[in-house]
Amino acid sequence: MNNLRFEALRKIANQERSVYVPNDNRFDHFAENVLDDNKLQNYLSKSAFKEMTQASHKGTQINRSLAEQIAQAMKVWALGKGATHYTHWFQPLTGATAEKHESFLDFTKTGDAIAALDGSQLVQQEPDASSFPSGGIRNTFEARGYTAWDPTSPAFLFGKTLCIPTIFVSYTGEALDYKTPLLRSISAIDNAATDVCKYFDKNVQKVIPTLGWEQEYFLVDRILVASRPDIILTGRTLLGHGSSKGQQLDDHYFGSIPTRILAYMNELEEECMLLGIPVKTRHNEVAPSQFELAPIFEEANLSVDHNALLIDVMKRVAEKHNLEVLFHEKPFAGINGSGKHNNWSLATNTGVNLLSPGKTPMSNLQFLTFFVNTIAAVLDYQDLMCASMMSASNDHRLGANEAPPTIISVFIGKQLTKVLTDLEHVSKGKLSPEEKTDLKLNVVGKIPEILLDNTDRNRTSPFAFTGNKFEFRAVGSKANCAKPMTVLNTIVANKLEAFKENVEKLLAKDTKMKKDDAIFNALRDMIKEISPVLFEGDGYSDAWVKEANKRGLYHAQNTPEALQAYVAQKNVKLFEELNVLSERELKARLNVDLEHYTLAIQIEGRTLGDLSRNHIIPTAIKYLNTLIENVKGLKDIYGDKYTQHAHEQMQLIERISNHIAEINTGVNRMIEARKKGNAIEDGFEKSLAYCNTVKPYFETIRYHCDKLELLVDNSLWPLAKYRELLFSH
Ligand code: ADP
Ligand code: MG
Repeated sequence: MNNLRFEALRKIANQERSVYVPNDNRFDHFAENVLDDNKLQNYLSKSAFKEMTQASHKGTQINRSLAEQIAQAMKVWALGKGATHYTHWFQPLTGATAEKHESFLDFTKTGDAIAALDGSQLVQQEPDASSFPSGGIRNTFEARGYTAWDPTSPAFLFGKTLCIPTIFVSYTGEALDYKTPLLRSISAIDNAATDVCKYFDKNVQKVIPTLGWEQEYFLVDRILVASRPDIILTGRTLLGHGSSKGQQLDDHYFGSIPTRILAYMNELEEECMLLGIPVKTRHNEVAPSQFELAPIFEEANLSVDHNALLIDVMKRVAEKHNLEVLFHEKPFAGINGSGKHNNWSLATNTGVNLLSPGKTPMSNLQFLTFFVNTIAAVLDYQDLMCASMMSASNDHRLGANEAPPTIISVFIGKQLTKVLTDLEHVSKGKLSPEEKTDLKLNVVGKIPEILLDNTDRNRTSPFAFTGNKFEFRAVGSKANCAKPMTVLNTIVANKLEAFKENVEKLLAKDTKMKKDDAIFNALRDMIKEISPVLFEGDGYSDAWVKEANKRGLYHAQNTPEALQAYVAQKNVKLFEELNVLSERELKARLNVDLEHYTLAIQIEGRTLGDLSRNHIIPTAIKYLNTLIENVKGLKDIYGDKYTQHAHEQMQLIERISNHIAEINTGVNRMIEARKKGNAIEDGFEKSLAYCNTVKPYFETIRYHCDKLELLVDNSLWPLAKYRELLFSH
């Protein structure tokens, strides 16, 4: 039978399950394939190593001769491990990582083949960049774009290729990737936060944002996926009736991990160990076939690289286990989709987590300062927070009773709410000694205790404080973390700068005022403002949408409109002032995102049309013909009385014919809507047309296809069904 679905089911039934054979102690191999500072110092002279670490910590230029030495070091290390190629590894705006491998092969003057990597090849490369999205920054006739080495993220060996993390910029120095603005935002928040830290501890020289992501994903059988053009082309199912059993029994969440999946996870973890990705947690998620993996947090830049690398590793390891890993935010209708919580905090070079309460009242005042400033930043830039995580694919998940709606609020828990209320009532101006003692002992001083038993959690909040970090939960599973992290770093940097200005103003105005008085005063003023964005209730409820509206919170209506936040005047000013993105770069990013949005829906529309017309309707007609034959046969036997006996069949014929007609009409209309959309020049208007006039057909067409799935003979159905995709391990 020429039915991929059945072939696949037969293969799965007969296939041997992969079983995990552990390697020797995996922890001994941690970062074995990473050229970190520890290893690099074995290949460099003492002075060169010192020069390099200083330059990379200060973010200063690495000179030619040093670059030459580092390139040699990299080459020797990589060749020693069997490398054949090297590549600049970067994160263009396509959303995937990019690499262009170069062999180490070179020739001497006398024509002998040698392995070479020189300093200039390390520092800068010029890939043929004309096919990467630039949002209009580059014209194809001036397609030059450069990748430039990022010494703050170590080179690593992936397979037999030495990967050198780089940024990707245009000939004119404008960012064409996710990392460039991320690095600039890291520098912005370093400056702003270090300045504020000086109020509390003069020894702080550097503040680094930290990130720990939690990656959710689905694993489905690869052979079954072969029967699903929608999964292959769009990463999600565009059709498919829900399985009788889905996630309603809650028996998958934290359940025992199936053997085959465990074998996959183990191999994946071993690969991660080699690459220095500090994976820590693994478990089953809510939906069947859904899982999660989380690392120990790292500096944001490295953590972003590690997530991007992980996506690649996960795909490759999945292939070996005959699995397909799905990163789409909503691969299956009717069950939960996948997110990627971004846990964010700030760490000092002195080893302090600024969002973790300390042991003394002063360190707690420092904690409160960063805590309140973050909330205030979120209040001011809700629109940017939304834009940083919204996309055509994440749209399916947001606000759908499994993830927060596109309204940004902050959850802080009962106890911290009480602390803020107390601080809101601090008197104006210089504080009396009694008030200050009371604050320090009874309010600020009590914070570590209250957080210790803070089991207060709210899983429905898009941005929650979880004891020692904020957790941005709205981010989608497919997203590059650099996007939300760039926004978060930038908006908080901005608030911290404003905070410092306020404190300085207060100190300048009243010479009697002490530093901590001024800080209490500045915080009080901010706390008075932030209440609209604080929300402790059920973020998934309809009541919250109404309440948020009343509070005047931003509510993104759709992705194309939300993306406009990038070019809103106040936001352009923010990004420009902090040197994170220029107006031109922001406009370019907007163009790229809008185009991605349109293309995603266009590809889905085409695929759905193809599936409906070339898979579903022909199958339904086949079954229809069987029914018609049956009715004809009954007529032969029963003559005029045949309707008595053929009643059910005739009803079925009617129903199936109706569904076919509806599908056909839907597809025709969708194609018309696409044509109209395609005629629109303006990128924004076009994406709106796709959002409002093309996308709505997906649901109607799907409805009728899914009805047919329930009516048509199972043995004819060509696409793997939900029950098969979700329960075949
Ligand atoms: P959950 O949110 O599921 O309860 P955890 O509390 O274990 O999980 O934390 C989830 C993630 O938060 C992990 O990746 C962890 O490394 C990260 N995390 C913990 N502390 C910090 C921090 N200071 N900065 C950034 N991420 C952090
Ligand atoms: Mg979490």
